[in-house]
Amino acid sequence: MKEQIALLIDLQKIDQDIKILNNKKQTLPEKAGQLDLDFQTRKDQIEEERNGLEGLNKLHKEKESELKQGQEKLRKARERLQEVKTNKEYQAMLSEIETLEKGNGRIEEEILVLYDRIDERKVALKSHEKDFEQYRGVYETERKKIDEELASIDGELGGQKKKYDALVPGLKPNLRRRYEMIKGRRNGIAVVSARNAVCSGCNMNLPPQLYNELQRSEDLICCPNCNRIIYWDEIANGG
Ligand SMILES: [Zn+2]
Repeated sequence: MKEQIALLIDLQKIDQDIKILNNKKQTLPEKAGQLDLDFQTRKDQIEEERNGLEGLNKLHKEKESELKQGQEKLRKARERLQEVKTNKEYQAMLSEIETLEKGNGRIEEEILVLYDRIDERKVALKSHEKDFEQYRGVYETERKKIDEELASIDGELGGQKKKYDALVPGLKPNLRRRYEMIKGRRNGIAVVSARNAVCSGCNMNLPPQLYNELQRSEDLICCPNCNRIIYWDEIANGG
């Protein structure tokens, strides 16, 4: 029975390791998803800035062509001024020229403001692009680390499962059933040591008679309180 209990302790250790590995494995995709989301958000922000700048450049081009048309109109109006015959026509032409000049002046003003805005946005975009490239490097490293970690966990899990499968045939079927049952009901821990007459699974005192029996007997003994299989821990109890 002692050998069987030693085997159970080994199996439980493997079970625990597998549980920890599986828990770790579960948190990793979530972590990767969060990283991906953050990356996409920042990428979208840069894209939005680029589109905004492109829009301003387009507007600038439109204003330049508008100004060109305005200047052309002004040139023609000035030409016609030479050809007018009456004073009334002359006054009307002067007024038209004044309106055109004012209009062109307004467009020139708008173009100057646009120049400033485009320059500002260009500087900002360049700096944000630089930050983003730096961030991309960090992101890619982190992402790679998660993939490697996942692969390594899979490798470890495979190794532990192999160890488990190698040990299980040595265990008596009824003991294995019992172990699985207690494990399911007691949060994964079915085999615990008894130290100084205390069950280390539930921390309750063991009846002295039972504790004595545990030290002498070869029988399978369970804690009367938590029902876990208990064993006499020679090292912890001082030999
Ligand atoms: Zn107990």
